[in-house]
Amino acid sequence: MQDQQAPPRDSSQLGFGEVFTPHMFSMQYKDGTGWYDARIADRGPISLDPAALVFHYGQEIFEGLKAYHGTGKKVYLFRPGKNIERMNVSLERLCMPTIDPGVFLEAMKKLVSMDQAWVPRSPGTSLYIRPTCIATQPVLGVRTSSEYMFFIILSPVGSYFSAGFEPIRVLVEENYVRAAPGGIGFAKAGGNYAASMLATEKAKEAGCGQVLWLDAVERKYIEEAGTMNVFFVIDGVLATPPLNGTILAGVTRDSVIQLALDMGIPVEQRRISMQEVIDGSRTGRVEECFGTGTAAVIAPIGELLYREETLLIKDGAAGKISRQLHETLVGIQHGRLPDPHGWRVLVE
Ligand SMILES: *Cc1c(COP(=O)(O)O)cnc(C)c1O
Repeated sequence: MQDQQAPPRDSSQLGFGEVFTPHMFSMQYKDGTGWYDARIADRGPISLDPAALVFHYGQEIFEGLKAYHGTGKKVYLFRPGKNIERMNVSLERLCMPTIDPGVFLEAMKKLVSMDQAWVPRSPGTSLYIRPTCIATQPVLGVRTSSEYMFFIILSPVGSYFSAGFEPIRVLVEENYVRAAPGGIGFAKAGGNYAASMLATEKAKEAGCGQVLWLDAVERKYIEEAGTMNVFFVIDGVLATPPLNGTILAGVTRDSVIQLALDMGIPVEQRRISMQEVIDGSRTGRVEECFGTGTAAVIAPIGELLYREETLLIKDGAAGKISRQLHETLVGIQHGRLPDPHGWRVLVE
């Protein structure tokens, strides 16, 4: 961690989530009182009782969105309403108190505005916003906490993958699963990531950037990729797994679907079997593959490692549609392109 007094001068060298801005938003919750003590203060360590429930039973939810530099002094949030809505869906799933959408949006705008000198300007950079909610009641009995803390921290970030818009290689995971029907796969809960780390380590050892998860029941259908939703271009159609409760409803996923439709590309939200991808990669029917997420925006996937065999997607290079969608999305986010769906929210 680096707590700096001034924004880094050379923002082209930023990593992901290693530098933080000087301020944070926080508020507290108690049963019977509701949310109270909302404030923006200096960013710093928080003090919790070692018995705080978050440490023992994992009641924790987070979000991730970005503020982007536009022309001049303009700074935009991208579809913050979607993240606020999703955070409340996640909180409800973990029996945690929801947050008033107006208070939430105002908190993000105020905090970003205060630290706006930290919104980097180099291509590919942005200010990552990390809202987080944790259970703070100090008690060891397994129960839902009666006390919570909500906070927001900010981090100027570069490209999520160090290589930029270079295709990544993913490991198709057949043994471990990320989420099962009826579980918490649709919630942005830290626990989902804790459960995924062993497989991710294995993927890294195999030279892959991410895990491609299969469904928990049949281990046949593609779910999502590590921190991203996943798309395929098959026979000119953009296909992505449906939101069936086991995958995250990505804001980038939703935006990419809309942009593809705007471009006249047909979109299907349907089950995609691994067999279809294997066959399609051999016959050339699978033309492109990419992941979507706030951190990486669009990450082209060039190779799938499946049962020790490498499946090349086309020639392994970033595809035309992936590139086009990436350029359009980034252009809208930074205010360089028109915003036909009203996705940008001006800070202040
Ligand atoms: C956050 C996340 C995504 C991407 O969601 P966006 O809203 O596009 O950032 C996809 N999958 C998982 C598991 C995630 O945690």
